[in-house]
Amino acid sequence: MNQQRPIGIFDLTGKCPLRCRHCYFYTDVSPIPPDLEDEEFLFKLKQARDAYGIRSAFWIGGEPLLRLDLLREAMALFPRNAIATAGVLPIPADLGAGLLVSIDGPREVHDALRGEGAFDLAMRNIAELPPQSFALATTLTAQSVEYISSFPDLVASTRTLGILVGFHVGRPGDPSRIDDRRRDRAVDELLQLHHDHPGVLLHSRDALELFRSCYNEEIAKTCIYKDKAISFDVNFKIKEPCTFAENASCDACGCPVVIAHAAWNGGDEASMGLLQALFPGREPSVAQPAEGGSEADRS
Ligand code: SF4
Ligand code: SF4
Repeated sequence: MNQQRPIGIFDLTGKCPLRCRHCYFYTDVSPIPPDLEDEEFLFKLKQARDAYGIRSAFWIGGEPLLRLDLLREAMALFPRNAIATAGVLPIPADLGAGLLVSIDGPREVHDALRGEGAFDLAMRNIAELPPQSFALATTLTAQSVEYISSFPDLVASTRTLGILVGFHVGRPGDPSRIDDRRRDRAVDELLQLHHDHPGVLLHSRDALELFRSCYNEEIAKTCIYKDKAISFDVNFKIKEPCTFAENASCDACGCPVVIAHAAWNGGDEASMGLLQALFPGREPSVAQPAEGGSEADRS
């Protein structure tokens, strides 16, 4: 069996200041083991990197900025890195990684999902970052899908590169999951927005089309976790089938990077550019083509 997996997704910590309603991480079915000490984490990280040939690392959690010193040391071990953060902690401008800040929509929507004050806190921390040095990651849920039209204002007010949109990955019965009919209507709205407000959405039109429910089966078959990506919990136990673990719902995957990768596989050059932008090389001298990005459905 080919063990090589160029993309690694790592839970840097099981801790997070928030408890979002749509979080797959804190659920009854997925107990979170305690964090490893820094030294042991780095030791196991190197083992995993070398065993699987990981070159692009995606740092999630929990909230990875809670372990900033460890995060810096861990990122130094990989040529390409990306971080997903909820933005409620100060965000250093010198991380040298792709930065995805999770914003679910306007203040009332964001705070309803993440807790009162989370939006203003994230906005304050984002305001300290250089313009266009980060992207917003917006996961559409049953609660937020009605607010797609607010995206242009969100981009204008935050000076972000744009919005990486995805659909909540949740099992049937999950109250945040969007049914197929509403999802397809949301894709129509996203395509219209892409036409009317170029640059607001980071996905290409070809990639946005792949969010339609008719492609669910194909997306599941070609998912990067089949042969390119591997996900680890805070103890370096491999998460199956992907970082969503027990909450994975391959019948309706809405992971934005899985979708971008599928579009790239279909010949969409814009999606390749997007994945490379999400995983910038640490230094120009070590920059290599991204191996298909990673998963960015949350923090
Ligand atoms: S739920 Fe996970 S394994 Fe399934 S298609 Fe999506 S990313 Fe892949
Ligand atoms: S979605 Fe992210 S920010 Fe919210 S509770 Fe889960 S890990 Fe924390």
